[in-house]
Amino acid sequence: MLSIVIPVLNEEDSLLELYRQIDRSCSANGIDAEIVFVDDGSTDGSWRVIGEIARSDPRVSAIRFRRNFGKAAALTAALRSIRGDLVLTMDADLQDDPAEIPRLLAKLNEGYDVVNGWKQRRLDPWHKVYPSKVFNGMVGRLTGLKLHDHNCGLKLFRAEVAREIRLYGEMHRFIPVLADARGFRVTELAVNHRPREHGVSKYGIKRFLRGFLDLLTIAFLTGFSQRPQHLLGACGLFSFILGGLGLLYLAAQWLLMHAVHVLPEEPIGNRPLLIYSAALLLLGGQALSLGLLAELMVSLVGRERDAFSVWEMIGAEEPLNPKSKIENPKSE
Ligand code: UDP
Ligand code: MG
Repeated sequence: MLSIVIPVLNEEDSLLELYRQIDRSCSANGIDAEIVFVDDGSTDGSWRVIGEIARSDPRVSAIRFRRNFGKAAALTAALRSIRGDLVLTMDADLQDDPAEIPRLLAKLNEGYDVVNGWKQRRLDPWHKVYPSKVFNGMVGRLTGLKLHDHNCGLKLFRAEVAREIRLYGEMHRFIPVLADARGFRVTELAVNHRPREHGVSKYGIKRFLRGFLDLLTIAFLTGFSQRPQHLLGACGLFSFILGGLGLLYLAAQWLLMHAVHVLPEEPIGNRPLLIYSAALLLLGGQALSLGLLAELMVSLVGRERDAFSVWEMIGAEEPLNPKSKIENPKSE
């Protein structure tokens, strides 16, 4: 079964048409699907429209937030209530085309865990398209996962992926990166993209600054979240040693001058090496202890989530990954 999850913020004019298109695409291709709408604090009539759809069709369920919590939060809430073994995320603004669902499913069945959409012919204003290209290039370089369109709303993945990764803030962009870091097989598929007909885009230029900061976090988390000291400690040690060498050199010089009774009368300000060395030493100590603190946090939090991800088992029992399972209230 396919669970289609749709975050909604003020999209009242698109919802009914979106529902109809999904319904058409799924029934034409014999796809067993449920739809989960999450109203992320809409202030227009979105919830009323969602309510009408959900009451008329048992395959549709809906969640309403008290206020706007952001797309990642909306997706998290939806992922917690899904019943399907496959998940499709999709924007509510009709820019993603439900007619692509069969192609996405076919791609996944070639042996992947995540299929990320790629708006190859993108129908958005240039000030979104170009920064987005730069962003995707940076994500590829920093995380090693090269996709054309990390930000695409259309993503198909297995429920295991949803169970193992945790979204927060605006991390929905990094579902493929987080999945890839846990060993899931990720690919992409060029999909049809349509211009926005109703409503307005919810993200402005400031998304790129945030996106960049999130990228730094992701690069750190995927590379060093289990051993933060390997990054912080390495930097700290390097700086510590450099500072130590500087001070050693100054000490040696001082002793030598003492030996020949030529005492330098220069004030500290004239010895930049002393200042730099001391600063490096302090910086190194700081980074090292910060790294230890980070390790302490990992060791505490690590008890709740496994650092590994199990693919298959022969003759072993389930409890390998017990905590990574989420409760599914509907399955009871
Ligand atoms: N959205 C949301 N909460 C937010 C912002 C956006 O649920 O805080 C939804 C929005 O309704 C849409 C999807 O996320 O279904 C993508 O938003 P939008 O189309 O504005 O992004 P763009 O296509 O401009 O990148
Ligand atoms: Mg859009």
